[in-house]
Amino acid sequence: MTRTDDLELLRQRHADLVARDLRLDLTRGKPSPDQLRLSEHLDGILAGDYHGADGTDLRNYGGTTAGIRELGSWLMDVPSADVHAGNNASLELMWHVVALHHLFGVDGPESAWQHRDAPKVLCPVPGYDRHFSVTERMGVEMVRVPMGPDGPDMDVVEEMVRRDQDVVAMWCVPKYSNPTGVVYSDEVVDRIARLGTIAGPHFRVLWDNAYAVHDLTDTPEALASVRAACSRHDTLDSVVQFASTSKITFAGSGVAFVGASEANLAALRHHLSLVTIGPDKINQQRHVTFLPDRPTLVDHMAQHATILRPRFELVAEALESELDPDGAHGTWTTPAGGYFVSFWSQPGLASEIVSLAAEAGVALTPAGAAFPYREDPEDSHIRLAPSFPSIDDLTLAMEVFTTCVRLATARAEAR
Ligand code: PLP
Repeated sequence: MTRTDDLELLRQRHADLVARDLRLDLTRGKPSPDQLRLSEHLDGILAGDYHGADGTDLRNYGGTTAGIRELGSWLMDVPSADVHAGNNASLELMWHVVALHHLFGVDGPESAWQHRDAPKVLCPVPGYDRHFSVTERMGVEMVRVPMGPDGPDMDVVEEMVRRDQDVVAMWCVPKYSNPTGVVYSDEVVDRIARLGTIAGPHFRVLWDNAYAVHDLTDTPEALASVRAACSRHDTLDSVVQFASTSKITFAGSGVAFVGASEANLAALRHHLSLVTIGPDKINQQRHVTFLPDRPTLVDHMAQHATILRPRFELVAEALESELDPDGAHGTWTTPAGGYFVSFWSQPGLASEIVSLAAEAGVALTPAGAAFPYREDPEDSHIRLAPSFPSIDDLTLAMEVFTTCVRLATARAEAR
C-alpha cells in the first residue's frame, strides 16, 4: 500500500530531523500569544471604577456582577437566570459538580452516586483527557462509548443507560469536540436530552461547551439547543452545561460558567459557598466591559479565527500532501472549529509515532491520552494541537510528524 515509501530513505530523513535538535510542542490546545494580544485591553479597562452597573462594590465579599451572566447565557444558549458565573476555570466547576453529585448528593446524601453499587460515567472516545482525570480521581468507573461523525453512538448510550441504572453521568463536548472536532447533530442533541426520561433521577449529562463560539469559518455549524430539547422532554435537571472564556480572552484569567436548572444551581451554589465566599467579581466586571454584547463577542471571535485558520490549513495541507490520500498511513479530521485535529494511524502505531516524534524533538500528546485510563485499545489515535506554535514551528513540526507516520508505517509493513 505504501510501496513508494522507501524505508531506508525515511530512516535517513528521520535521522536528519533528529540531528536538527528541534524543540517543538504540539501537545496542549493553548491560545497563541497573538490571540492573547486580542484581549490585552482587559488590563486597565475598569480605570479605577470598582462598582458594577447595579452599584455593587466589586472589591468586597458578596453581591454579584451585573451583566456577567448574560455572557454565559450567550455561550450556553440558556436564559441568564440559569447561569452561574465563577472564577477562571470551567474545569474547576466540573470538578465541583462531579464532587457534589458523587460525594454529597444533589438531592440529599442518599442521592450521592457513591451509594450506587457500581457508579459509571459514559465517556465518548476519543475525548478530553481532563474529563477522564476528574472522573478517575473521584473513583468513578469510566465506560467508553464510540464517537461517530455526528456525536456519540446514541444506540449504545441509550442501551447502556436503559440496562444499567448505575450509569450516573456522561461527558459531552458537543461542539468542535475535543479532540475530533465533531459537532453533535440535532438528532443526537435531542436523544441526549431524552436520556433523562430513561435514566435514574440523579443521572447527569456533563455538557462541556468549551468551543461554543470557536468557529474557523464564516459559516459555522449550528449546535441545537440542548436546553430547549430538555424543556420539550421535561428533563431540565438531567443536563449541566459548562463554558468559559479561556479561549476567548485569557486562558488563565477568564470567566467560567455553569448553566443548569434552578434545583441544580441551588445545590451547586450551596456547595460552592463552602469553598469560596465568592468569585473574582473584578475580573468578571472586566469581561462585562470588554464583551458588552453579542456582536462584540462575534467580532472578537472572528479575529481569533483569522489567527487560527492558517494554522489549521497548514496542518491539513501537510497531511494531505505528505500522506497517502487513500488512508494507507492513516486518517484525520479537518475540523471547522475548536482547537484540535485528530489523527488515526494504522492500528498499533500511535505510541511508536509519538516516540519517533519525541526523538526528533516534537512533543505530541501521549498516545492514549484521549481515552479513559489512557488506554486506546487500537493504539491508533493521536491528538494534534496547532494553535500555539508559530507558523514556522508548526511547518517544521508537521514535517516531523508526517515523516514519523510514514516511517512507523513502513517499519510495520517490513515486520
Ligand atoms: N473543556 C474542554 C473540552 C477543553 O478542551 C478545555 C481546554 O482545553 C477545557 C474544558 C478547559 O477549560 P477551562 O480553561 O475553562 O478550565
